Amino acid sequence: MEEKKQIEYVIILGTGPAGLAAGLYAARAGLNPLILTGTEIGGQAALTDRIENYPGFPDGIGGTELADLFQKNAERFGARIEYDSADEVNLEKRPFTIKTYSKEFLTEVLIITTGANPNKLNIPGEKELTGRGVSYCATCDGWFFKDKDVVVVGGGDSALEEGIFLTRYAKSVTIIHRRDQLRASAILQSRAQKNKKIKFIWNSVVTDIFGKEALEAVAVKNLVDGKTEKLSVDGLFIFIGHSPNTGLFKDQLALDEKGYIIVDQHMRTNIPAVFAAGEVSDPHYRQVITSAGMGAAAAIEATRLLESED
Ligand code: NAP
Repeated sequence: MEEKKQIEYVIILGTGPAGLAAGLYAARAGLNPLILTGTEIGGQAALTDRIENYPGFPDGIGGTELADLFQKNAERFGARIEYDSADEVNLEKRPFTIKTYSKEFLTEVLIITTGANPNKLNIPGEKELTGRGVSYCATCDGWFFKDKDVVVVGGGDSALEEGIFLTRYAKSVTIIHRRDQLRASAILQSRAQKNKKIKFIWNSVVTDIFGKEALEAVAVKNLVDGKTEKLSVDGLFIFIGHSPNTGLFKDQLALDEKGYIIVDQHMRTNIPAVFAAGEVSDPHYRQVITSAGMGAAAAIEATRLLESED
């Protein structure tokens, strides 16, 4: 006889601020939530060196430390965290099915908080030299570039924040931006401009990445005069935005043109009992606090739904 599978009330996919806040709220509502971690535990917040704009920490807090506190807080109220990754979801009927490599789960409510991943430049050499000089995470890899020359691509908050972080190790940090104006917040612009190790190359893009065993140089094209120059570098950090992790849901949920899950003000997707929160459904704010807030809202809505269904 086939074993009868347990049906969970709530499964949450992802352990970034949205997932762990949803876990905390769902646990406190007595829903005994199960959180599947995915491959990147703690989300992007955990990869951030220092978070200075999460209220309650006037001196800032390390990203890993904050992620750890989020996890402890959710677990204290009974959220269960399983170190597993969803490979397949079936949202055709309730309970929904989630398959991982070795298991199958059933759940009445699904909260998707799978976050976003860094965009790639998609230029020659990028793939081959990733992990060998090319990186998307200064907190993870900055240490390897002690007294070296590194290039940062991008003009947003991430590029500047991570560029400033890299000056702790690197001899020089050159920020290459495709326009002559930064997108980053005024405070980060001012810090970067005051930092003696940082210089900017404006109106330019990196078009090629060279190196045999490790990164050696990049080709930088000036978009105004069209000239390309080769720049010797030891590290290349790419911060040109993110794309949501929605591959698992693309034929089942309504997504916007950039692939973000479309939610209403109640974090509801187009499928009843499927909610989404955090960066996977937020192309606008993408802050730890907004993601955590969306996660809490999704769990509150999940609780209301389950209560209304008795
Ligand atoms: P972003 O704001 O989307 O900035 C991406 C940057 O990359 C832009 O400057 C963009 O240029 C450039 N870019 C995009 N595609 C490119 C390409 N193919 N080649 C060259 N350059 C390219 O992304 P983000 O910096 O990751 O920030 C995302 C969100 O997180 C934002 O809302 C940001 O405020 C937030 N964030 C906040 C903090 C903080 O508060 N401390 C820290 C990090 C991130 P253009 O400017 O020309 O479009």
